[in-house]
Amino acid sequence: MNFSPAGVLNADLHCHSSVSDGTLCPEDLAARAQANGVQLWALTDHDEVGGQHRARAAALSLGLPYLTGTEISVTFAGETVHIVGLGFDPDDAALVDGLARTRGGREARAREMAEGLARVGIRGAYEGALKYVGNPELISRTHFARFLVEVGACRDTQEVFRKYLTEGKPGYVPHRWASLRDAVGWIVNAGGVAVVAHPGRYKFTANEEYALFSEFREFGGRGVEVVTGSHTQQDYVKYAALAQEFDLLASRGSDFHSPDESHTDLGALPYLSGTLRPVWEALADRVHLPS
Ligand code: AMP
Ligand code: MN
Ligand code: MN
Ligand code: MN
Repeated sequence: MNFSPAGVLNADLHCHSSVSDGTLCPEDLAARAQANGVQLWALTDHDEVGGQHRARAAALSLGLPYLTGTEISVTFAGETVHIVGLGFDPDDAALVDGLARTRGGREARAREMAEGLARVGIRGAYEGALKYVGNPELISRTHFARFLVEVGACRDTQEVFRKYLTEGKPGYVPHRWASLRDAVGWIVNAGGVAVVAHPGRYKFTANEEYALFSEFREFGGRGVEVVTGSHTQQDYVKYAALAQEFDLLASRGSDFHSPDESHTDLGALPYLSGTLRPVWEALADRVHLPS
């Protein structure tokens, strides 16, 4: 299989299953990816690789080439940054252990979130969010958002984030995730490539963003998501230029979570510009091919 040039491969290297905060199981996601014309797929659950063997088996049984994936929560300059890892060994002990520690604080955080919501009259949010959770270690803001929509507090999950779950709002609890150095190290030492996820979403100044990418490179990071569900046309241009400036590989992924919530379906994205080096070129020997 020829994975280049960049411009003509429908690779979707970022999405979530019910193993983290998506609503579909890995098998249903694989089927949806294939039905949508995806030609190279990675499941990238938050802080978890528990769905990797299932995703790979499902993809290969459908004839869909597969790369292992995860999306690690990192705290950098006081903000949460997401680092996608691709093509690593999903059984690597240090990676599995690092992810388990990253997940560790979620339950206590969720209980605090529920206390904050109770103070503004929304009761039972912890138990309510849990109903939507596939993996209790990975209770996330997304699960709270689904519960708040269910009880009619908001029309959709976007509105919940805006009114309740972002900084300064009643259900927001700051949290310390993995360090950038550790997250990149876990991925690289497990044989994978680390990628800065959806850089257009962070609220960094130009200096902070420069520091993020400089340190990321220094720690062994090699890629950046240029085309992703939450990016605008301007972001595509900006981060394509940044990929060139920092000599980074370019990635492409929908960040699909749910047929009911996600604006961008699996594989439904513009192609990467042919002037970029796609991340899958550097991962050719890590791709699992159908037999
Ligand atoms: P957490 O890891 O618990 O902080 O939750 C982060 C998750 O919330 C992300 O992975 C997204 O799935 C979701 N999310 C974050 N911001 C928004 C938003 N503004 N609208 C909808 N979903 C969001
Ligand atoms: Mn998510
Ligand atoms: Mn993310
Ligand atoms: Mn994501």
